[in-house]
Amino acid sequence: MGEKVAVIGAGISGLYCSYLLEGKGFEVELFEKSAKIGGRMASTEKSGFILDQGFHVLQTGYPLASTVFDYQAMNCRPFQPGALVIEARPRKSKIWCFADPFRRPLTGMMGAINLFTSPLNLLRVGLLRWHVMRTSDEDIFTQTGQTTLDFLISRGFSKSFIDRFFSPLFGGIFLESSLRTDARMFKFVFKNMSRGDMVLPEQGISAVPKFLFDKLENTKLTLKADVKIVNDNELIVDNKHQKYFRVIKAYDEIAGKMTRSVWTVHFSAPKSPLKQKFIMLNSNIKTQNKLISHIAVPSDIQPSYAPVDKSLITVTIVGEHADKKGISSEGEIARSAVEELTEWFGEEVGGWNLLDVQHITAALPELSSNDFDNIDVNKQFLECGDHTYHGSVEGALKSAAKLVKNL
Ligand SMILES: Cc1cc2nc3c(=O)[nH]c(=O)nc-3n(C[C@H](O)[C@H](O)[C@H](O)COP(=O)(O)OP(=O)(O)OC[C@H]3O[C@@H](n4cnc5c(N)ncnc54)[C@H](O)[C@@H]3O)c2cc1C
Repeated sequence: MGEKVAVIGAGISGLYCSYLLEGKGFEVELFEKSAKIGGRMASTEKSGFILDQGFHVLQTGYPLASTVFDYQAMNCRPFQPGALVIEARPRKSKIWCFADPFRRPLTGMMGAINLFTSPLNLLRVGLLRWHVMRTSDEDIFTQTGQTTLDFLISRGFSKSFIDRFFSPLFGGIFLESSLRTDARMFKFVFKNMSRGDMVLPEQGISAVPKFLFDKLENTKLTLKADVKIVNDNELIVDNKHQKYFRVIKAYDEIAGKMTRSVWTVHFSAPKSPLKQKFIMLNSNIKTQNKLISHIAVPSDIQPSYAPVDKSLITVTIVGEHADKKGISSEGEIARSAVEELTEWFGEEVGGWNLLDVQHITAALPELSSNDFDNIDVNKQFLECGDHTYHGSVEGALKSAAKLVKNL
């Protein structure tokens, strides 16, 4: 056995870090303060449903993640590439289908002629796709920083298209309501959506950290750990001082960068309200100041998410958006969600049962343009986690890979 390294935090960055350290011959002790591994990639079971902690997908387009995870072994299944967009109307809501025209040419073209937006905006989406697919990931992250909103405006998209399409989609991904996220992150995510699928593992999103954990051979895991960091080489574990070759922190403090929040509401329904396996975006979120960004029906993708004869409907509400509307309790969130969904789908929502309302307060990091500019600088040598790279599974894995490479 080699020298001892302590890794604190068993989210995917800490797990992947432990795996890489094992590969370098270190003896790894992994400390997790909660009762289970996985951090933010968590699922629970309730009344025969698998409830992920927040709507969460894997992107098969992520370059590092696709070498780390075996999507087949996790029985992952994809959403259709593209999205449905709904506009609530008094008599019958209007639904548009935006299939990815490069992968579903026919449906994509139908989307282009169905008057959701001008053909010019759709052409610009195609040009944007072409542009990001031709740019390497490294080049994306070395470009000059600007907000996603400014970038979309600079690409000529109309305000209406941004409000009705990009805001519900990327607001719901970045968990913010003004598209202020650095455009480099937007381009990276947009590129990954273009080159891969959004997939769900059969056993829920917690199957992802479990997959990593199962790869560990001799890491010693302590759950419910009470650990204090003294310095880069020393911990206090259960009131005892312990020395290590290195101590690695694989988490962010709540008071740190992890400030973006999200509400997730899960419903049980007798059947899926969607006819196709897309996520559904709310085109009214900006134009009518509505609450819901998007909904998904995970059981349409993975039947294991719901009992037979039931569907699981998962609603995403960006935390700061709810805050701006003055909605702050579970009861108000659930009531408002039901009200909006009834405007979308009518009476059938009366037959849905509320399963859970989750408020995830430390969901994603708020990273400034300056943070992105420093990604390749080794400023946090003994710290990994998505808050040190960018807020995604890929960012968490990459942060661990960078740290261990330099150890
Ligand atoms: C609702 C939601 C949806 C998301 N959707 C996506 C998505 O679709 N695609 C995507 O790519 N990414 C998504 N993400 C982001 C992704 O989940 C994170 O980037 C990733 O899980 C971060 O992993 P991590 O190891 O950096 O941090 P964490 O998962 O936060 O892990 C940190 C671990 O450290 C532990 N810990 C903290 N303090 C201590 C301490 N003092 N001692 C010991 N242990 C400690 C915590 O309990 C936790 O287990 C989403 C996140 C959320 C919340």
